[in-house]
Amino acid sequence: MAFYDFPPWLLSLLLAPFGLVLGSFGNVLIHRLPLEEAADRNVATKPSHCPQCKARIRWYHNIPLLSWMALRGKCADCGCRIPVRYPLVELLAGLLFAGSVWVFPFGTLIWLKGIICGYALLVLFFTDFTEFMLPDVIQFPLMALGVLFTVPQLLWPEHASKVMAMGWNALSVDTFTNGLQLAPGWIPLGHLPVTWKESLIGLVAGYGLPWLFNAIYKLIRKTDGLGMGDFKMLAWLGAFWGWGAMLGILFGASLLAVVFALPLLLTGRAKGQTMLPLGCFLALATFPIVFYGPALWAGYLGMMR
Ligand SMILES: [Zn+2]
Repeated sequence: MAFYDFPPWLLSLLLAPFGLVLGSFGNVLIHRLPLEEAADRNVATKPSHCPQCKARIRWYHNIPLLSWMALRGKCADCGCRIPVRYPLVELLAGLLFAGSVWVFPFGTLIWLKGIICGYALLVLFFTDFTEFMLPDVIQFPLMALGVLFTVPQLLWPEHASKVMAMGWNALSVDTFTNGLQLAPGWIPLGHLPVTWKESLIGLVAGYGLPWLFNAIYKLIRKTDGLGMGDFKMLAWLGAFWGWGAMLGILFGASLLAVVFALPLLLTGRAKGQTMLPLGCFLALATFPIVFYGPALWAGYLGMMR
C-alpha cells in the first residue's frame, strides 16, 4: 500500500505531530514578526526564550501542548503566565493537519494549498488580534504562490478539463496522478477551477478595490478606513481562491465586523474611530466561502427571486 493510499485516520495520526510542531513555530512567528527591531524578528536561528525573564526555554519545556499543561501555563523560571494562545495555536495547527486529509485528498496540490492557506490564516489571525499587524514577510510570498498554484493546469490542461467536467469528485479519484492538480474554486458564474486569470484578477482586485475604497473614505473622513495589511491579505486570498471567492470573503468579513462592532458601538464601548482587526474577520470568513461559496451564492440568488 502506497503512502498516499493510507486511510484518512492513519494519515491524520501521522500528520498531527507535524501540525503541532508547526503550530509551535507559528507561535514564534506570531510573537516575533510584529516586533520593531529587525534583529528581534529573527525567527530562524534565535532560540526560544521567555518574553518576561528572557530565560532560555529548555527543549523539554518546548513540547507542543504537553509542556504548557505540565507547567500549568506558567514560565518554569519566573512563573509569569504563558498566554493560552500558545497551546491554542498548537492545537489548531495540529487539527488543521489532521483534518486536512478528510477535506482534500492527501498529496494533491489542492491539499497543499489548503494547508498553506489554513496555516497562514492561523498566524495572521493572531498577529492581527494581538498587534493589529499583518506582516508583509508572510503576505507577499503568498501572493506569488497563489498565482504559481495555477501553473500546473497550464502545463497539464487535460487535468483542468477533467475537473471542469467532474467537479470536486475528480480529486478523490486518482489522487497521485492528480498530484499536481489545480485547485477547484468558484466564480459567481459557475463552479470552476481557479484559473490563472481568476487568480490574477483576484490578486489585482483584492488589492485595488479596498485601495479605491480607502481613497474615497479618506476624502470624506480624512483618515484611513482600512489598513494596508488588509489589502494585501485580500490580494493573496484572491490569488489563492479566485476573484469570486475574494469578493465573497470581503463581504463575509464586513458582515462579521458589523455584527461584532454593533453591540460595542451601541453600548458606547467603541467609537467610530476604534480599530477593528479586519484581518481576523477575513480569516474567519475564508473557510465558509471557500467550502460553501457556491451554495451560499445560489441560496442568495434564490432569495432574490
Ligand atoms: Zn519567564
